[in-house]
Amino acid sequence: MNLILFGPPAAGKGTQAKRLVHSRRMVQLSTGDMLRAAVASGSPLGKRVEGIMREGGLVSDDIVVSLIEERLPEADAAGGAIFDGFPRTLAQAQALDTMLEGRGARIDLVIRLKVDDAALLQRIAGRFAESGRPDDNPESFKVRLAAYNDQTAPLLPYYQNHNKLVEVDGMGTVDEVACAIDEALDAPRW
Ligand code: ADP
Repeated sequence: MNLILFGPPAAGKGTQAKRLVHSRRMVQLSTGDMLRAAVASGSPLGKRVEGIMREGGLVSDDIVVSLIEERLPEADAAGGAIFDGFPRTLAQAQALDTMLEGRGARIDLVIRLKVDDAALLQRIAGRFAESGRPDDNPESFKVRLAAYNDQTAPLLPYYQNHNKLVEVDGMGTVDEVACAIDEALDAPRW
């Protein structure tokens, strides 16, 4: 099973993905984590993306698509992946469909975590002090939210048209959201 956790920055995608890794033995493929690891390692790729990430912009489609492609064999071996923070543009969504198709797989479900902007801003304000992420500051967060609204939210109709989209209220506690995700995953869909 291949699942996309979809939603704006700070919606809780990473938290919920990590829980699913434990409860369902799935592999989490987070392009944000992969890019942060590249930056931390000081690799040429890390040097290329560091500034873009700090400012909250999107890294190029080619880069993130290759990062995901490298990790697909691992997802195959585990029986599927949770895509977290990917895809973020229509080109990434199409590349993902093509890559999966080439491996005889597909996206089974897209779970959208719905959190309103006011709640996001409140959450992130709490995180600014403690996360240690250079993009967790008010200016970068504004850019990240704008990138989501302009480039990522338009993927919703794409997945809706393919009958893959399920919406979950992301405003509750971590456990409440986890329960709602479990219900969505276990519901008969066809
Ligand atoms: P968040 O969901 O809190 O914004 P992520 O860890 O998913 O955090 O992403 C952090 C940053 O990494 C993004 O702001 C962007 O610069 C870069 N990034 C991550 N995934 C992608 C992607 N799929 N396409 C382009 N840039 C990405």
